[in-house]
Amino acid sequence: MPALTFSPAVRSLKPSATLAAAAKAKELKSKGVNVLDFTLGEPDFNTPEHIRKAAWNAMEAGHTHYTPSGGIMELKQAVCRLYQRDYGLTYKPSQVLISNGAKHSIHNIIAALCGPGDEVIIPTPYWVSYGALVELTGATVVLVDTTEASGFILSAEQLERAITPRTKLLLLNNPSNPTGAAYTPAQLEALAKVAVKHNLLVLSDEIYEKLIYTGSQFRSFASFGPEVAALTILVSGVSKAYAMTGWRIGWTIGPVELIKAMDNLQSQETSNPCSISQYAALAALDGPQDSVEEMRVEFEERRNYVMDRMRPWRQKYGVTFAEPGGAFYAFFNVAALFGKPLAGGVTVSNATDFCTALLEKNHVALVTGDAFGAPGYVRLSFATSLDILQAGLGAIEDFMSGK
Ligand SMILES: *Cc1c(COP(=O)(O)O)cnc(C)c1O
Repeated sequence: MPALTFSPAVRSLKPSATLAAAAKAKELKSKGVNVLDFTLGEPDFNTPEHIRKAAWNAMEAGHTHYTPSGGIMELKQAVCRLYQRDYGLTYKPSQVLISNGAKHSIHNIIAALCGPGDEVIIPTPYWVSYGALVELTGATVVLVDTTEASGFILSAEQLERAITPRTKLLLLNNPSNPTGAAYTPAQLEALAKVAVKHNLLVLSDEIYEKLIYTGSQFRSFASFGPEVAALTILVSGVSKAYAMTGWRIGWTIGPVELIKAMDNLQSQETSNPCSISQYAALAALDGPQDSVEEMRVEFEERRNYVMDRMRPWRQKYGVTFAEPGGAFYAFFNVAALFGKPLAGGVTVSNATDFCTALLEKNHVALVTGDAFGAPGYVRLSFATSLDILQAGLGAIEDFMSGK
């Protein structure tokens, strides 16, 4: 067999750290260990029944063939109706592209727009795939660090300072994975003003738009007037709001020419997203929305439970955090514990080792902040039952207390 040599792009690629952390937890589980797993970024609920039925009906109706590469017209129209209904934003189906999940949408946007010499601004802490997807195109990642004190919010001044003549795109994620930060309308508007001033394209990843907690408010980045909308490339999908991660349906809404270019790319790369999933997504968008709110309410209950348990950690362990306004993550700084004896007397000096020791000693799986460009931090997903959260937070407390 010839020695395999890989392309420079693939050689420089790291596996998704969240998936890797989940794999490590699974491995331990397969050995019979009861692992309390808080690594995965997906709802634990099953897809609502009327959506599952729609998928079955689609198969029965013979929707088992290729569709147009950019998705069926009915689904594009449903996406347009959704943005009109929920945000008062008017789009044409020619501005919509359906892809194999929002991650695929983001990949195709970046692949269609960026190349060597371009700069892409990414605020930290960032979603694991952003940097990897930009680097695949040969473009340069420009990281801008946001702080816990600001609630992990990118300020207009920070954005202004990061822009150069080579800047192609800003990647914004609101609400944020991994921090749960939810921008206020005023904070978004300030960023939008900078974007308009510099004619800067903004990829706004709004996949958690329906998971907003009391006290926070969601505004789509495209909703600050026509000048801003013209610069905004919206990304979302059914994965988080409808508990449909496995179905792989996401979308892009943007300028017609960009959608055409991405459709070209997609036609050569993957062809259409799964036909059956597209009909299921259609039922999700057009059908009753009660389940979305029911799941949100459960997430909020878990969020409040987690925050109630974590607040005393500030005093007790020196753990710091900003409370999440959306999504389903608690993101906290454990640097105060570095060098101190933890469970079994173990000491650690970074967040990655903290997570490894926590998994090995107390069988709790978290994701290291190193994966999100946030050293010292760890991410806990509360997309899991209250029982498991209760046990897990207790085990983390034991670990930090040296038990
Ligand atoms: C989950 C997630 C996505 C993508 O989800 P898909 O399943 O690919 O639709 C995109 N962005 C962020 C920030 C996410 O957390």
